[in-house]
Amino acid sequence: MNLILLGPPGAGKGTQAKRLEERYGLKQLSTGDMLRAAIAEGTPLGRQVKEILDRGDLVTDEIMLDMIAERIAQPDCDRGFILDGFPRTVRQAEGLDDMLGRHGKALAVVIEMKVDEAALFARVANRAAQSAEKRSDDTEETLRKRLGIYREQTAPIIPYYRDKGLLKAVDGMADMDSVTRQIEAILGLQSADASAS
Ligand code: AMP
Repeated sequence: MNLILLGPPGAGKGTQAKRLEERYGLKQLSTGDMLRAAIAEGTPLGRQVKEILDRGDLVTDEIMLDMIAERIAQPDCDRGFILDGFPRTVRQAEGLDDMLGRHGKALAVVIEMKVDEAALFARVANRAAQSAEKRSDDTEETLRKRLGIYREQTAPIIPYYRDKGLLKAVDGMADMDSVTRQIEAILGLQSADASAS
């Protein structure tokens, strides 16, 4: 089963994707993590994208599509994957469709995590304060910029997937466990917590 977790920065995509990975063996593919790893390793790609991430801008669609194409072909994605932070533009969404078609794969669902923007500032400030690994883009100024880019460039993929009948929404403002249960219900998965009780 392949799915997309969609939502603005700070919506909790990474947290939920990691849980689904641990519980169900679906591979989390976080393009933000991949780019940060490339920067940390100092690869040519990392050097190319560092300033873009620091500014809160988007990396080009070509780079992102190549990165995902290479990744979903790996055997650890055979059981399914969770796209976290990709696609972020309609062009990436269209490119993903072509790519999945070529690999004989398909998307099961696109889950939009709905959040209140004001609350995102508190969350991202909290993430910056608690995180051992400092993210250079977790500042109020960059968040404002990234939210603007989300509204302008990423939000248009919501109607794109709605028209395909793939879109479902969860209340991303609920507590973490409740969000996980909402996602599991959409995916038709039984939660580990529920089965233990
Ligand atoms: P994230 O960890 O998902 O918030 O991503 C951090 C940063 O990586 C973003 O602000 C962008 O600069 C870059 N990035 C991650 N995914 C993408 C993508 N699909 N398209 C373009 N840029 C991306």
